[in-house]
Amino acid sequence: MTVFLVGAGPGDPDLLTMRAARLLAETDIVVHDALVGAGVLDLIPPTIERVDVGKRPGRPTPQENISALLVELGRQDRHVVRLKGGDPFVFGRGGEEAAALQQAGVPFEVVPGITSSVAAPAAAGVPVTHRGVSAAFTVVTGHRRPGEPSIDWRSLARFGGTIVVLMGVSHRAAIAAELIAGGLAPSTPVAAVQAATTDEQVVARCSLAELGDTPVDSPAVLVIGAVAALRLGGVTAAAAAACVR
Ligand code: SAH
Repeated sequence: MTVFLVGAGPGDPDLLTMRAARLLAETDIVVHDALVGAGVLDLIPPTIERVDVGKRPGRPTPQENISALLVELGRQDRHVVRLKGGDPFVFGRGGEEAAALQQAGVPFEVVPGITSSVAAPAAAGVPVTHRGVSAAFTVVTGHRRPGEPSIDWRSLARFGGTIVVLMGVSHRAAIAAELIAGGLAPSTPVAAVQAATTDEQVVARCSLAELGDTPVDSPAVLVIGAVAALRLGGVTAAAAAACVR
């Protein structure tokens, strides 16, 4: 049957796509990550089998095992939802899973999700582009494994648009230092949006020079650039619920 590579959005279940919600209600099995919001997991009917392949420290599921599991399940006579935080093709390793399924001849479909790279800034009231302020945004990972090409932060500093860093919490001091070395002003505004769109959302605002010493916990999106000084509303799950009432 088909394996659906589904984006779960940033956390708030209201930010699921309608297709994702329908598939979650109708599938036979859900294989999900640690990053998928608790509110989204609560939508899965109790009768549907769930497999948590979250890559947590000390209990990792290697990527090859996950891909092999999807191929195996996809060959069985049941529908599979592979649920990933945000969008499956934005740093979710969804591309690797799609490639494994394609190579194995297992039918699959990608269901895009709202990526945290735009939803987290928005939840803090930060538009990633803004007329007269920023005409571009770059989404970049702050985490590199040995052997992977490293990000040229200094070139990025010269590029001029908003820089959105995912998986950058632990290396934020080094990232800030590189960007400053590349020419970004130490006073460049930064918004660090933690657990965006969930009840635990925390937004820290600081300058680039202060980023290394500003407390930020994972998962967080770092928004670097003039737009990070803006605070155009911002919606948290709690605020959205309050609006409905
Ligand atoms: N596919 C996901 C990204 C996976 S990489 C997406 O499109 O959003 C994991 C990183 O995403 C985290 O380290 C963090 O930087 C970011 N992230 C995901 N959900 C988040 C959330 N609710 N709040 C803040 N950051 C989040």
